[in-house]
Amino acid sequence: MSNPPLQAVRGMNDILPEEAQLWLWFEDTVRDWLDSYGYRNIRMPLVEPTALFKRAIGEVTDIVEKEMYSFEDSLNGDHLTLRPEGTASCVRAVLQHNLLYNAPQRLYYSGPMFRHERPQKGRYRQFHQIGVEALGYADPEIDAEQILMCARLWRKLGIRDVGLQINTLGDAAARKQHREKLIAYFEQHAGVLDADATRRLHSNPLRILDSKNPAMQELIAGAPRLMDELDHDAILHFEAVQSILKQHGVAYEINPRLVRGLDYYNRTVFEWVTTRLGAQGTICAGGRYDGLVEQIGGKPAAACGFAMGVERLLSLLQEDGAVNPAVPLDVYLVHQGELADGMASVLAEQLREQNLRVVLHCGGGSFKSQMKKADASGAHCAVILGDDEVQTLQATLKPLRGGGEQLRVAQSELANKIGKLINKG
Ligand code: ATP
Ligand code: MG
Repeated sequence: MSNPPLQAVRGMNDILPEEAQLWLWFEDTVRDWLDSYGYRNIRMPLVEPTALFKRAIGEVTDIVEKEMYSFEDSLNGDHLTLRPEGTASCVRAVLQHNLLYNAPQRLYYSGPMFRHERPQKGRYRQFHQIGVEALGYADPEIDAEQILMCARLWRKLGIRDVGLQINTLGDAAARKQHREKLIAYFEQHAGVLDADATRRLHSNPLRILDSKNPAMQELIAGAPRLMDELDHDAILHFEAVQSILKQHGVAYEINPRLVRGLDYYNRTVFEWVTTRLGAQGTICAGGRYDGLVEQIGGKPAAACGFAMGVERLLSLLQEDGAVNPAVPLDVYLVHQGELADGMASVLAEQLREQNLRVVLHCGGGSFKSQMKKADASGAHCAVILGDDEVQTLQATLKPLRGGGEQLRVAQSELANKIGKLINKG
């Protein structure tokens, strides 16, 4: 009896070779783009102590309340979580290794994040982000830099139809005042609040503004506005960000309802949104988080960052027909005979030494069936090694694309001849 086939975990995707080509191209493009702004790569573990995310993201948030893959390590009882986002880990790493001691840091990371959400298009349980963080920078120039960076990336990738929404969440004092007014307002209308909102009324009333429940939209529209509580510095900061955006002709819309789902944000927040991906339209989101470094146990340091959803970006590109065709192989090496079978891998290594991409035929078979595989491989040419050739230190070169005669070549000349063939084709 055979075993039933096993499947991947729901909401966690395999990325097969054809699609992976597009990912590779995307990752190269992103790396060049980050280089051009002087952001440096940092790599953190996928697993962190659960307490880190609770402390950084906030206990009363969607992520911490219901989306985290948390577990107890049965070997030592540690409470661990698969990272649902990267900012908390990045700040943890920066503090642990004292990177802010001498200089501010422009950093980026990329990789999988894990959230237990209902899988649907653009929403997965393992998804990928590129995260960009600037730590130790208080000035509005860095908020604007990060927004301009995004705009440049969209241009590089050829992504249109994506709009920028910005807002400011002000600072602690204004938020506290706003919070009190919000609670008072929602208490007056307690009958209209849904279960989520009622639960959050005293723990995180700001999040009620983010509710998508149609029955509460009118109530939300009339709620006290944080804008009205902002202090002078926060207003100046927000105006400075906007004036840089204007200077660069980056269009934006101020969305006073934009509050973001993580507690650590203050002042500038932004989202890049497209209408082309249905409800999962936010491809990139971020903002300032001046309090987080201290909250995680460091000396106070201002910071600003954002993360993009790779799957959502790639699905936009795929809708536009983007493909990244694989670069064809140079050589498929066919071999037959006792001597030849023994020497084939040596010849393949010699050719790779000359920077050629070579697939060595494996698994035997007739000359004819090997040549069929060579054709199917898409390689520029077949190199054929028989016992004859081994004895004379030669090989037979057969062009597979664009015609041309088969010819016998000294092994020492082979790479050179193949190079010419490829350049011609
Ligand atoms: P949403 O409102 O769509 O749930 P979010 O506010 O939870 O997004 P962030 O935590 O800001 O998302 O993450 C930044 C980006 O990562 C999002 O804008 C989105 O592009 C992507 N993203 C977030 N969650 C998922 C997911 N489950 N699957 C795929 N991409 C995601
Ligand atoms: Mg979410």
